Amino acid sequence: MTDLHRLSIRELSEGLAGAKFSSRELTEHYLKRIAKLDTQVKSYVTVTAEQALAQADAAYAAIKAGTATALTGVPIAHKDIFCTQGIKTTAGSKMLDNFISPYDATVVAKGKAAGLVTLGKVNMDEFAMGSTSENSFYGATANPWNLGHVPGGSSGGSAAAVAADLAPFATGTDTGGSIRQPASFCGLTGLKPSYGRVSRFGMIAYASSLDQGGPMARSAEDCAYLMNVMAGHDAKDSTSIEKDVDDYVANLNGTLVQGLRIGIPKQYFNVAGLDADVKARVEESLKKLEDMGATLVEIDLNMTEAYVPTYYLIAPAEASSNLSRYDGVRYGYRAENPVDLMDLYKRSRSEGFGAEVQRRILIGTYALSAGYYDAYYVKAQKVRRLIQQDFLKAFESVDVIAAPSAPTTAYKIGANLSPVEMYLGDIYTIAVNLAGLPAINAPVGFDKDNLPVGLQLIGNYWSESQLLSVVHQYQQATDWHTKRAAIAEENA
Ligand code: GLN
Repeated sequence: MTDLHRLSIRELSEGLAGAKFSSRELTEHYLKRIAKLDTQVKSYVTVTAEQALAQADAAYAAIKAGTATALTGVPIAHKDIFCTQGIKTTAGSKMLDNFISPYDATVVAKGKAAGLVTLGKVNMDEFAMGSTSENSFYGATANPWNLGHVPGGSSGGSAAAVAADLAPFATGTDTGGSIRQPASFCGLTGLKPSYGRVSRFGMIAYASSLDQGGPMARSAEDCAYLMNVMAGHDAKDSTSIEKDVDDYVANLNGTLVQGLRIGIPKQYFNVAGLDADVKARVEESLKKLEDMGATLVEIDLNMTEAYVPTYYLIAPAEASSNLSRYDGVRYGYRAENPVDLMDLYKRSRSEGFGAEVQRRILIGTYALSAGYYDAYYVKAQKVRRLIQQDFLKAFESVDVIAAPSAPTTAYKIGANLSPVEMYLGDIYTIAVNLAGLPAINAPVGFDKDNLPVGLQLIGNYWSESQLLSVVHQYQQATDWHTKRAAIAEENA
């Protein structure tokens, strides 16, 4: 079969179970595509062909023995932020270019237990800091829709791999939009779960109170399959919640669009820098949801102006603390021939970290320093609470909140925006992380240059099933999620 990469996760699951094709066939098909096409997309940092084929054969045996799960034998790509035992985990950084984890992240371990076949590890902005994936030590990844553009970030490798059909789905992480924005830039569906729904154990930390892993795929249905594997309490992550998980696949039709109240924040659609095509596509998608029976309700989110400054204090503050462990002594990059200990620390960190990471460590350390702690860090925490309250008040009168995922479509590679311009691009995603809420991106059309546009739906706590269900119904009634980039149409 030459078109295995066109199949949805459900079709792959059924095909494997019904022995229409084997996991080895499927895995070889993807490995062939990666070998041929990833020289242009550059989404993989590491391809684990040998391990993948061994896992594929084990999957075959499990299917024959009747011990398979719905996903046994289905390939996946993991963001290179999830620790993988025996396989390099870089977080896109020179600092971890030589790092081989002695254990698997919980998300990876759960994937293995479910029988997923790991194709490899995919590119990302260094330590998940960025919106383009250009901040990677391994170089830029291309957007499959236009190879001169970025796939977004920080989970840009995950998005590009799926959009080019170099993996059927992928894991991502979202601290301030890193699942939703690359999904938006690459025409995919991506879910950022509620904080605590997915274990952070073995997921390299950027800003621990904001970080959350989630699925990136072609459709809400595909995401639901992966959520069924990723979600759940983990004793190894004290911030993971002891709450039953839903069956996200079984719940795909659990929430009706008919009667759904969708909040439209006034402030969001007047943001300077909101691209006219993005605005038009998002509004058209809302019109479609209205035609399907939803009610659009104008709401106020008065804290909108505070989002960027609040996030860009809290995230760097936590990053400066998390990244202090990379000292050139315990693990990671070590500078050569240090003259003394201080020289070892200084040079290991200035040679091992890229410019954006260093910028954030400096900002965060400053905000946490004795003289400025109250003025910046504590103040930001208070504003964070107000942002959360703003959302909770809105959810008293609406079921979900709609927004663009990003104010623009994908930037050109090398556009070289200033840090502040770059940070302003996070306006629609970061408040969700500050509040710990779940949110989803769904593709809703294209701009004049044929680059994808995404709609974001934000839900109340633990409403992942509802978000997936609403997008699933939208996708039953539309075909934006079935559009493929030209490179994905190519056969290997
Ligand atoms: N673009 C945001 C940042 O640079 C979000 C990153 C993320 O979610 N990991 O921090």
